[in-house]
Amino acid sequence: MQDTYRHQGQRKRLVDTLRKKGIHDERVLAAIGQLPRHFFLEEAFEEWAYQDKPFPIGCEQTISQPYTVAFQTQLLEVEKRQKVLEVGTGSGYQAAVLALLGARVFTIERHRPLYLRAQKMFRQLDLRGIRCYHRDGYLGLPEMAPFDRIIVTAGAPTVPFTLKEQLTIGGLLVIPVGEEQQRMLRIIRHSETEWEEEDHGDFRFVPFLPGME
Ligand code: SAH
Repeated sequence: MQDTYRHQGQRKRLVDTLRKKGIHDERVLAAIGQLPRHFFLEEAFEEWAYQDKPFPIGCEQTISQPYTVAFQTQLLEVEKRQKVLEVGTGSGYQAAVLALLGARVFTIERHRPLYLRAQKMFRQLDLRGIRCYHRDGYLGLPEMAPFDRIIVTAGAPTVPFTLKEQLTIGGLLVIPVGEEQQRMLRIIRHSETEWEEEDHGDFRFVPFLPGME
């Protein structure tokens, strides 16, 4: 696997596109500008890796569109050293973006082949701040909770209470909620018993499914 000048140039143009589409967090843009997205795709898609589009990654799943990754990451307002839980590892690209922001990342995937491939990729890229789990994301990761930030990258029919409960007080959960189409919600935990919900618009994700494969 190589990261050529051509890939780097394409990545710069992708960052320009994201800026034009309204992404303004320079740290997020820098992470996307730094990370070779083509490493996370099957070879057949390498040519298109820096288009602002989702692509198939096997197991009927997709790597999210770069704009969606940037938008969710921007909403998450990650600080260095924070504990971040990601539900839906998929290709591993989103987790790698979070690791480049200095987060301690815990990522869960229900499809074993995807979990294994992402774990291998993190080792190859020497991204040590990421721990992968082959689990059902509906349960969160109780033994590592609470988390400063939680990001769900699959469309959930409703917000799982388990995940809300695994936030620190003051923590943020970014989750797309809805059946066919999803609203991007950001949930802020104010106290043991109070959460506030913000709506950040329409998106389309693969479904958040129960159980493991
Ligand atoms: N963040 C990923 C996007 C992958 S798509 C990336 O950067 O590539 C969403 C992923 O969520 C899929 O891989 C799907 O298998 C996974 N998923 C869906 N329901 C899940 C659940 N209950 N627990 C864990 N992962 C789940």
